[in-house]
Amino acid sequence: MAELNPFKIAQKELDEAAEYLKLDAGTHEMLRWPMREFHFTIPIKMDNGSIKVFKGFRVQHNDARGPAKGGIRFHPKETIDTIRALAALMTWKTAVVDIPLGGSKGGIICDPHELSDREQEQLCRGWVRQIFKNIGPVQDVPAPDVMTNPQHMIWMLDEYETLMGGKYPGVITGKPVGMGGSNGRTEATGYGVIFTLREALKTLDMEIKKTSASIQGFGNVAQYAAELFVKYGGKVVAASCWDDKDKTVYTYRRLKGIDPEFLQSITDKYGTINKDKASKEGYEVLGGDKWIEQEVDILIPAAIENQITKETVGKIHPKVKILAEAANGPTTPEADKVLFGREIYVIPDFLCNAGGVTCSYFEQVQNNMNYYWNREEVFSKLDHVMTNAFHSVDKKAREESIPNRLTAYLLSVQRVVDAMKLRGWV
Ligand code: NAD
Repeated sequence: MAELNPFKIAQKELDEAAEYLKLDAGTHEMLRWPMREFHFTIPIKMDNGSIKVFKGFRVQHNDARGPAKGGIRFHPKETIDTIRALAALMTWKTAVVDIPLGGSKGGIICDPHELSDREQEQLCRGWVRQIFKNIGPVQDVPAPDVMTNPQHMIWMLDEYETLMGGKYPGVITGKPVGMGGSNGRTEATGYGVIFTLREALKTLDMEIKKTSASIQGFGNVAQYAAELFVKYGGKVVAASCWDDKDKTVYTYRRLKGIDPEFLQSITDKYGTINKDKASKEGYEVLGGDKWIEQEVDILIPAAIENQITKETVGKIHPKVKILAEAANGPTTPEADKVLFGREIYVIPDFLCNAGGVTCSYFEQVQNNMNYYWNREEVFSKLDHVMTNAFHSVDKKAREESIPNRLTAYLLSVQRVVDAMKLRGWV
């Protein structure tokens, strides 16, 4: 189905911005495609002695504003078009928060649930051996993403430094604290979501303490978004997750409000909530995608792409006022139009979840100085960047009466075009 091809969606969204900005055909074409793309194989000796060959990718969409930046995903259903779309999204994301970086993304087709730690380490090292000449602190800087974590980043860093014969902490971000990582990186994306949501509520004259939310996913982003939202006085009534044991999705609901800390304590490192422990504590276990149907003020998709589609958008309760897109690409263009028509305030993904890359940028800055900030300092700088970026989008969208997503595109595409023009590329 063409509509659900994430790269086609990303191109379509760009096309709309290009038309609005009246970009010339060459500049527009340059932005529709990645500047560079790498496809490679990674042979691994498995624990049982057999050799298994995995497929790896790295896509560098645009680096006019600085070194490319983007995560590495481990996913059994990874596709090159998903990686291309997410690489482009990184270009717009770094531009919308105005940090001096470009956009890239990478991945390996694999399911880490089925791999031992040793096999995962070999996969990380193998990925770096195939791409080390084309990444680096001044070229392209990877980071954790879906199903990758700080341990994976350290294995990659170690392989890179072994091959290069030196210390290059800035080659990769999302490192553990004490090993070149930044305080607050784990929380940064989720907290960033809530900083933008807090500002959106202010502009809509809604009091955060009187609002409720339903979240899709309970991984890294969702857990910290839930934590800060509850800390601000909001109520999260439901969170959903993929259950690998039962091979299905469950929504965990507690109408008086979930306890994020308790749910975190019974969630594994892949973001799967323990069903038995949750139901014992009085959480309702609902089947399927019930998170989207909840009678709440705010929906926070924080799992995977293409969740709010023309088929599911009608399930959104009339009470919902805000969609805070914590995940990348959760809404299809057709559903987006319905949301605009229903006057649901959308905080678009590449603005809403830019806290992670902003903190990664802070990590690189700290690596360069070899001097590290405390958590308060990191969160206060993060809040400043996210709040400014939110208001620049919100103000322009109101002035021009256009959707927030288009506005965010207009701001970021223009910044990238300006950089390309100054460099004499277009
Ligand atoms: P994660 O792997 O830690 O968690 C993903 C969560 O989604 C898990 O709880 C999983 O069970 C759940 N899930 C998977 N499929 C589902 C489904 N069909 N229905 C309901 N739940 C489902 O991932 P994460 O790091 O939290 O990332 C979540 C999203 O945020 C992704 O789209 C990612 O690209 C995006 N994102 C992450 C970061 C970051 O810093 N981690 C930064 C920017 C954007």
